[in-house]
Amino acid sequence: MPREFRNPIRPHQGPPPTAQTLRRALSLFGPFKWHLTVMVLLVLATSALEQLPVLCIRAIVDEAVVGEGELDEINFYFGAMLGMHLLGALLGVVRGYLNQLIGQGVIVGLRERLHAHLQRMSMRFFTETRAGEILSRVTTDVHGIQEAVTGTFTAMLLNVATLVNALGLMFYLEWRLALALTVVLPLWVYPTLRIGDVMRSLQRSWQQESANMSAHVSETLSVSGSMLVKSFGRQGFEAGRFGQANQALRELTIKRFLAGRWFNTSTQLFGAFSVGLVYFWGARSVVSGEIPSVGVVVAFATLAQRVFTPFRQIARINTTALTSMALFERIFEYLDMPVEVDEKPDARVLARPGGRVRFEGVSFAYRRGGDRALEDISFEARPGTMLALVGPSGAGKSTIGHLMQRFYDPEAGRVLLDDHDLRDLKLSTLADAVGSVAQDTYLFHTTLGDNIRYGHLGASNDEVQKAADMAGLQPLIEALPKGMETIVGERGHRLSGGEKQRVAIARAILKNPPVLILDEATASLDARLEREIREATERLAQGRTTIVIAHRLSTVLSADEICVLEGGRIVERGTHSELLAQDGLYSALYREQMAEEEASGAEQADGEGDNEGDPLATRH
Ligand code: ATP
Repeated sequence: MPREFRNPIRPHQGPPPTAQTLRRALSLFGPFKWHLTVMVLLVLATSALEQLPVLCIRAIVDEAVVGEGELDEINFYFGAMLGMHLLGALLGVVRGYLNQLIGQGVIVGLRERLHAHLQRMSMRFFTETRAGEILSRVTTDVHGIQEAVTGTFTAMLLNVATLVNALGLMFYLEWRLALALTVVLPLWVYPTLRIGDVMRSLQRSWQQESANMSAHVSETLSVSGSMLVKSFGRQGFEAGRFGQANQALRELTIKRFLAGRWFNTSTQLFGAFSVGLVYFWGARSVVSGEIPSVGVVVAFATLAQRVFTPFRQIARINTTALTSMALFERIFEYLDMPVEVDEKPDARVLARPGGRVRFEGVSFAYRRGGDRALEDISFEARPGTMLALVGPSGAGKSTIGHLMQRFYDPEAGRVLLDDHDLRDLKLSTLADAVGSVAQDTYLFHTTLGDNIRYGHLGASNDEVQKAADMAGLQPLIEALPKGMETIVGERGHRLSGGEKQRVAIARAILKNPPVLILDEATASLDARLEREIREATERLAQGRTTIVIAHRLSTVLSADEICVLEGGRIVERGTHSELLAQDGLYSALYREQMAEEEASGAEQADGEGDNEGDPLATRH
């Protein structure tokens, strides 16, 4: 493993965002046309109300210095100045509210679309994408856009309006001074843009390092990750990797701060010099009579100071605007991903599926053009019967279960439920019709009761309790401190493998599907636990079409048909006695298991494991 981090969540580094992205981002604001129009008007009004008081300053100064010193006039201008500021501030609050309304409207819609789209993605997407990457796009990226949308747009508008207003007023007050300042201003623009570039690239590196660190933390400090680290004693190694990113972040943060500091310092200095210059030149011009009043110089100097703030902010906004465009691209990239397993517009609903399952010449590869996990698979399971799939590890047994639930669609052939191609059925019909108890049961970080209720969200407490009883969960519930209300940890890590499986069985009992896929745990369970789970699954399987991915002989014995898989093909099929008579792969696996059982006795250790000690799933 390389010592340095691999970055799973790369910030945008490709070509600059296209005009198309910008157009698409802007189109999101379509439903808010009227809000936007009002907001633009408010921006113009508030910006004007911020600038106009300089005219009052000019009048007050001139009244005091060169006028007749009329106190009423001074009072009037003072009152007008306060009034303008007050009105500007109030309108600013309304503007902020409107801004949030628009920003949140755009973001909520985008986040919902993204979430809905991701829910429709096939399993291929989830197995090929790192969880951290998806999380980052749905949360961090959307949050970044939210900041840009609510902050950047109005800030840009406000700053441009302020700049235009201030420059306009300056020309109105004293065009020669204004012209001189307009010539000086670009001198300051170049270094500002340069520093802006540096800051942007530092920000990008910072995001990259920070994403690395989050990915590392989420991987190594998750339940499974920390188990792996501890079992190999790799705490030191992980601390080293974490330390590297931590140091890199420290350096980048300091550099970023320094660049920002230089940026502010240069602006402040330039602003201060310019104001000094205005006073210097203004005073000389007043003395020489070129400028008629001191009030003009004071008002001009006030404006000169203000002109730099919007300039500085526009340069900064440029950076955030580009970053947010990159974020929009990342979101659009996900939204544009085609939905592989989709529902047809005229998809059928089956009111009461009977549970006939048929595979017709099904072939499938996980990667397009890659090795096929299934090749020309055909079988039929009649309603209420049990079909067992056995064979060596990697033969394709679980893949059949995946296709039955339409996690993927076959490349060739058809999978049918009650003689309907699964691709013609509503996804909700299929989900209601097919239940599964997988090897690795996923539990949410919520109560035991709610985890069971996931099988039927409208189930009453009594129904949940009954399902738990049937799944043999009563002893566990009695042992737990809060019974059904006990929170089971994320992924069910607070429960044992056998307990988790019984929760899955209870969930399936509650769901009550006509078709059941039972992926038997490969873990070695002790004899009592195995018997209990077998009894629970037998209760569950009763009256349903059951496709069992069998690892234990006891299950296979009662199957109506057994399909023996090898290398993605069905190589033998029949009942237990027929297959023994064929003396092929099945009877070899059977003999192997018998020998194993004789050698080790019926006792097997409890706990999770892999295919070891599971002769129906391993082959020499
Ligand atoms: P086991 O008894 O060990 O669970 P299995 O018979 O159920 O094995 P499958 O899980 O169906 O076997 O796997 C069939 C083949 O497909 C294997 O070669 C496996 O490596 C491959 N495979 C399984 N899942 C994926 C995936 N998500 N992406 C790519 N290949 C996969």
